[in-house]
Amino acid sequence: MSDIKDIDKKIKEKSAKVFTASEFKQIVRKGGRPTLDDVDVVTCGTFGVMSGTMAVFTIPVAGLTEISKTDTIKINGIEGSVGPCPNESLGVVDCIINGTAHRDHDYGGGHLFKDLVARVPVSVEATSKEGVFKKTLTLDDFAFARIIITRGGFKNYTAFANPSESTYTTIFSDTQGLAGNLKEASVSGCGEINPLENDHSSRFIRNGATILINGAPGTVMGPGTRSSEAKPNLSAFADMKGMDPHMMGGFRTSRGPECLTSLATAIPVVDQEALDAVSILDEDAVLPIADVHDRKPLFKGRYSQIWKGNNLDVVSDLDSCLHCGTCVADELCPLGASPSSGTEGNVLCMNCGLCVSTCVGGIFECDLGSIDYGGQSVPVKVRQSDRRRGEELCARVKRLVEEGKWNLGNGQWESTP
Ligand code: SF4
Ligand code: SF4
Repeated sequence: MSDIKDIDKKIKEKSAKVFTASEFKQIVRKGGRPTLDDVDVVTCGTFGVMSGTMAVFTIPVAGLTEISKTDTIKINGIEGSVGPCPNESLGVVDCIINGTAHRDHDYGGGHLFKDLVARVPVSVEATSKEGVFKKTLTLDDFAFARIIITRGGFKNYTAFANPSESTYTTIFSDTQGLAGNLKEASVSGCGEINPLENDHSSRFIRNGATILINGAPGTVMGPGTRSSEAKPNLSAFADMKGMDPHMMGGFRTSRGPECLTSLATAIPVVDQEALDAVSILDEDAVLPIADVHDRKPLFKGRYSQIWKGNNLDVVSDLDSCLHCGTCVADELCPLGASPSSGTEGNVLCMNCGLCVSTCVGGIFECDLGSIDYGGQSVPVKVRQSDRRRGEELCARVKRLVEEGKWNLGNGQWESTP
């Protein structure tokens, strides 16, 4: 048995035994029985729609004394909330923009955050009694830019189905909405590689623990809003300037754009309890299925019904494309990834699987799985999480640990009980 300090020391000395969650699960799945001597750290990650994401900015919009107090602010047409500090006469604006804020059906806070991190110039428009102030800026011009997750990384987020007769528009679907009569399901969550699935009691993913948010080093603040023993989630923050645009973005739903966020961390395997926790498999990880209208659980599935190891990627057969006048797959892709030009190597594609069912020529392939409910099989139509990117994040954290660049964190501050 060791403690976090022992494992941090091993990491520093580059002698820690590190596995990604998938590597470790493969050993367990094949009947191996790893002991505490075999493993020090298991790395975990998740990527998907996370509504509880916001950004806090300090933006220079005018010269000193040119603005007495800013009244409104928009970045790329997305309205922010000015404050809390008034910054009287300083020419800078402190503001908050929600990841779920919208400019229109195609562009929201998640898209804006990704553009900023990719250093795409954005238009800033501030109003005050002195007039309208417009600037084109990049993230590097912002004096402060942090992402704050108010809740994210749910241990076992929910799949949704629609038992009523008519299609339901919801953030838990693609732009077409969720068809009625339990004809289809949308799913979220990365199952056995999710950080909290591997540390369900938040023994290690707690105040002060190190976490990657959208690829940048961040800090866990503790449980997030609506966190419960049965469905824990976390809150955390990180500086946007170190983030990776590939690990974040926007996702179009039938109720407007949502925010894509990613989280990844390292779990220290300090004792048998921790070893048991990191041994959980998709076959045992609960995937609750809820009625999309009221979110009340209808039944419980397992993540093994949707993640099957070989179905992480959507593949395309472009030779079979019918070159339709209007490509419905392109029109409906939640990421704007233009599937008609192929999904392999497509950096915008997050393997949501929607083009599998929307393409007229059936040129896309992926077994998205289905959930059995009372003898009825409810096929998955769209995945709002990308386990492929989750795997990439696990590998990234593993590299950082192996290179001695990861500090597990030691609860540098405690929240008020
Ligand atoms: S809908 Fe399918 S077959 Fe038609 S153009 Fe688009 S990708 Fe090709
Ligand atoms: S799987 Fe198809 S629909 Fe989904 S993001 Fe990729 S290209 Fe778009």
